Amino acid sequence: MESAAQLSLWLGPWLPLFLIVHFLGVVCFAYIVARRLTPLLRAQRDLRFDHPLLRLRQVGKYWFGQWKHPRYRTAGILHILIFSCFILLALRAFTVLIVGVTPDFVVPGLTGETGHLYQVATDYAATVVFLCMMFAIVRRAVFKPERYEVPERFGKAHKADAIFLLSLIALLMAADSVFEAGRTAGHAQVSQRVEFAAAFSLPWLLKVLLVGAPEKTLAALCFSGYLVHEVAFYFLLCYRPFGIQFHVETSLFNVYFSHLSKGVLKPVRWGVSDEHLDQVKSFGVKTFEDFTWKHMLDFYTCADCGRCSDNCPANTAGRPLSPRFISIKARDYAFQHYPMFGHAGNGKSLIGNIYSEDEIWSCTTCGACEEECPLLIENIDKIVDLRRGMIDDGNVPQSLQKPLKALESRGNPYGKMEKKRADWITAKDFQQACKVKTVDKKNGADVLYFVDSITSYDDRMQSIGRATAKILDHVGTNFGILGSSEKDSGHEVRRFGEEMLFMSLRDHNTDAIKASGVRHIVTADPHAFNALKHDYKDVPPVQHISQVIADNVRTGKIKFNPVENADDVYAYHDPCYLGRHNGVYDDPRAVLDAIPGLKRVEMKRSRDRSFCCGGGGLMLFYEPKEEERIGVKRVRMAAEGGANVIVTACPFCMVNIEDAIKVAGFEGKMTAIDLAELAERQMFRDTVITGMPVVGKDAKEAKDA
Ligand code: SF4
Ligand code: SF4
Repeated sequence: MESAAQLSLWLGPWLPLFLIVHFLGVVCFAYIVARRLTPLLRAQRDLRFDHPLLRLRQVGKYWFGQWKHPRYRTAGILHILIFSCFILLALRAFTVLIVGVTPDFVVPGLTGETGHLYQVATDYAATVVFLCMMFAIVRRAVFKPERYEVPERFGKAHKADAIFLLSLIALLMAADSVFEAGRTAGHAQVSQRVEFAAAFSLPWLLKVLLVGAPEKTLAALCFSGYLVHEVAFYFLLCYRPFGIQFHVETSLFNVYFSHLSKGVLKPVRWGVSDEHLDQVKSFGVKTFEDFTWKHMLDFYTCADCGRCSDNCPANTAGRPLSPRFISIKARDYAFQHYPMFGHAGNGKSLIGNIYSEDEIWSCTTCGACEEECPLLIENIDKIVDLRRGMIDDGNVPQSLQKPLKALESRGNPYGKMEKKRADWITAKDFQQACKVKTVDKKNGADVLYFVDSITSYDDRMQSIGRATAKILDHVGTNFGILGSSEKDSGHEVRRFGEEMLFMSLRDHNTDAIKASGVRHIVTADPHAFNALKHDYKDVPPVQHISQVIADNVRTGKIKFNPVENADDVYAYHDPCYLGRHNGVYDDPRAVLDAIPGLKRVEMKRSRDRSFCCGGGGLMLFYEPKEEERIGVKRVRMAAEGGANVIVTACPFCMVNIEDAIKVAGFEGKMTAIDLAELAERQMFRDTVITGMPVVGKDAKEAKDA
């Protein structure tokens, strides 16, 4: 910008025009943003102003650091390039705008060599953005990546809009380069001094072409380059809030205000304690205005990239749910009902208008969508809130009515007697091998094994319970169960939207746990694990059995015999509520790798990209229409990976995977086993037990126990 003095000759006479464009651009943008903020001001509360340092860290990692983008390599690299160049160019864009009004303007600190260096860097940045836009346009128009396509049932494709916006950014870069080339070429002619140039950049190439051009031509190019840049800049600024590019403005705030912990569900109403919930007139989300302001910000921020839906098991299996459209449909609704002019809002029910019931019941709450989203958009809270709204209106799917009633009356979804809850410990051969006590005020224990309903009552899953008990017994843990005093953890009930029922189950279990006086809890059910860890308050720390086994393997307390059949190939399936929601990925793998001779392969989708078995969110009792069952897709992935034994660490996964093995026609060729069952089967029994940790990572604490 050093030659700004010359620019005044070219730009000066047009000052009033430039000022009008500036004024209109700023006023229009301010008005549009104010209108876009209207629904957020009418929305429900959301308490996201805590932990500012942690939130800034999120911004550093996910917004500035673009942490999740490389998960899709081509699109990710493209985005990182564009984003970093945009950051560089932001200052230049504003400088160019100001130069049209004050030709002598130079950003403080960007004079001399520093200014030249910045100039060179931004010349390259503009070139990179221009090329990236060209590449993105060709990619969108010619190669058409599948995840951008919009199935008819979800509305119209936004391809034309996307290509238009990409072209507009390319135009902005081209205009900037024309202006810069004209300016530097003109400056070279006037001052006879050659400016330091960014070789092979777009402005450099244009400058090479223009260097001998008459001064009048350069002036005209400078003028038109500037005007096109100015108009395109403000047009983009004002157009973005009407489509997917709004994320350029909102993403920083969306990331700052994002969830700080996984596995946690939002309360029914922020700021309303459980004790006062009965005073809340309406539960959940029924109309658009029932969403929280953060959830509305999510809708504005969605870039329609399709990564969430690409990883959503419900969408992959052909269920009527695609998380991308949870955001896009709500955003379109907001644009339609909160227009730029006239009356805002209509208070219509969302279910039946933009979402279908099946769509909202289809979610397994697996968290794959949230794990994948580069902008940290939350779907589970919204889906659960929509379910809460449906439940509040008495809108419960037929097949779920019975299990819910049973949970209310018997504390388990099967409607079985409470006194039969501990029947799994009465098997004769088990009793001979392992004694399990029921803990209460009189019979204390250090550790509570929280069994939960499926393992207590399902004949097949009881084997996981017995294996867990034998492992705890083997490592010398003083443990017990609650027996008939235990009720369902309520994890699925809560994610299904039945908050009051969940609260009664939670309160009952909390009282029973506290009365038992235990200091640790162990469970083999990741759903119970997640509930006790995140949904319950004031209960002792909880560990999943895979963590307990891994700890004891590390300390040498558990040793394994060589694997029974050395020809088998094992694949570990990460349960969503152990892996994605709680970050337990390594312990189960460490246990498998400690078994001598065990061959283990990774499935294509594993760890935080694990593919749900389809069993979460009360899905064992409700199956939406789908093209192919989620579990069947999962066992095919194991087969493709070369495995013939699927190891999981969750009874819900076990139900689905064993069933899917039959449906997929792999019976006799593939089996499934729980990690606890496998560890117990392989355990070397003559291990001399020394005073090593048994439960919990803290050796001293465990020794005391
Ligand atoms: S939580 Fe899982 S099932 Fe639900 S929308 Fe997200 S990816 Fe799909
Ligand atoms: S929610 Fe996130 S991952 Fe899904 S389309 Fe929107 S930006 Fe992409």
